[in-house]
Amino acid sequence: MRLVLFLCVALAATPVLAAAPLTDEARWWGHVETLAGPEFEGRLTGSPGHARAAAYAAERFKTYGLEPAGTEGYLQPVTFVVQKVDAARSGVALVAGTETRALEVGPDIILGSRIPQLPVVEAPLVFIGYGLHLPEIGVDDFAGQDLRGKIAVYMNGGPGEISAALKSHSRGVQTWRAAQAAGAIGLISLSSPKTAEVPWARTIENSIQPGMYPVDPALQEAGAPKFSASFNPATAQKLFARSGHSFAEVVALADAAKPMAGFDLKVGLKANVASTVSETTSQNVVARLPGSDPKLAAEHVVITAHIDHLGLNETGKGPAYYPGAMDNASGVASVLEVARQMASAKVKPKRSVLFVLVTAEEKGLLGSKYFAERPTVPKASVVANLNMDMALPLWPLTSVIVLGVDESTLGDAARAAAKSQGLDLVADPYPDRNSFIRSDQYSFIRAGVPALAFKFGFKPGTPEAEIERAWRSNRYHGLADDLSQPVERAEAVKFNAYMAAVVLQAANASTRPAWKDASFFKRFAD
Ligand SMILES: [Zn+2]
Repeated sequence: MRLVLFLCVALAATPVLAAAPLTDEARWWGHVETLAGPEFEGRLTGSPGHARAAAYAAERFKTYGLEPAGTEGYLQPVTFVVQKVDAARSGVALVAGTETRALEVGPDIILGSRIPQLPVVEAPLVFIGYGLHLPEIGVDDFAGQDLRGKIAVYMNGGPGEISAALKSHSRGVQTWRAAQAAGAIGLISLSSPKTAEVPWARTIENSIQPGMYPVDPALQEAGAPKFSASFNPATAQKLFARSGHSFAEVVALADAAKPMAGFDLKVGLKANVASTVSETTSQNVVARLPGSDPKLAAEHVVITAHIDHLGLNETGKGPAYYPGAMDNASGVASVLEVARQMASAKVKPKRSVLFVLVTAEEKGLLGSKYFAERPTVPKASVVANLNMDMALPLWPLTSVIVLGVDESTLGDAARAAAKSQGLDLVADPYPDRNSFIRSDQYSFIRAGVPALAFKFGFKPGTPEAEIERAWRSNRYHGLADDLSQPVERAEAVKFNAYMAAVVLQAANASTRPAWKDASFFKRFAD
């Protein structure tokens, strides 16, 4: 409605301007403006604003002439359990003998909401070093640990000799599985202040948000309820006070990527976790461009971007909602632009292309996980995933970062496309951020599908690196990821052209992409 009204006014006022065709730049930015605008209220998974954003994208796909490929037209509804932890009604304390030391929920500890929380817990705390479970390379911080009925405390990171891919993989579900197998009833994660991507104050703000997990038990990975939390590095010494060790010593080892052993923290944790549970349904949006080759058209290259973001601002301070202009209205706008251009091109790709805008990325990659496990096309026909999440068009595009480029033959498509567009490929400047497993491509990787993720390139120590650093510290998951930030729209158009070129390379290749034999991620395809 807003858009229609705008067009009418524009037509009446400036007929010459309105009649001129939109430039690619204006089209891309128009999507960003609309998606990050007030109508969609920050696109929280399950919210009316998200549903309107999904409808907007579906309408665009329809206009471009793409096939609806969801389960309800262009939409694939997905239902989640919503768990809202009430910090004000929850209490956490450290207990040693008869001594109890209360912790502040928020400033000290943030209670997790992404897996079912235990309402009441009292258990000893054990530090387990990095909490890595990688038996394939002989590293297992859980080995020989009796964690029955205990809460395991671990430090993010890992020894330098272990590849970033392995360290990344061993996080999340893998850490839970290993902890569970060792009998633990909970996990507390710690991080070095050096690796903190956002200030703790913003982490507290974001923790007001409810967590979610799939309603479908087959897709729930953590199993039975567990205590889960993360601890503020600034106050984490409280956990170590009685152990004969210090948090500073743990941080020093982690910062130097040195091995570290676990030890008993000689303190217990007591918690009442007040939470409410409900259900919500949100939408993946799926459109299909049929391939031109009689045989290869049965296979699908899937290009993705998450359409959800953080929704309304419930802190009571500042703007009404989180715009998420870069995270990830920009990626959705790019998918829409690649879709429009490919649909209107005379020569169609040989394989079919699926354009998928996934929900619930911010809730733990849940929409993409659902799609990867329950695709709307035959599962075996999904041959590749290309994902965009915060590509950051904030400086000139002279190079691209392609996460996963050495893991599969799909990387060859990304390289060939870069060459055709005159772009360099640069290495991930921050492998320890675990970016390859931190966005929706990982859902496809775990389903066995070769995948890549794409960002604007930059090198450490350059002005671009400083722009990136400042963006993370000032805007990432904050209210300032808005439409007033300086976005390089013309560079985004070049990036879209690059993405279209990668899709074409992958869709036209004679053989379907495969994981390299040496790739750690190949295991999911076997
Ligand atoms: Zn995000």
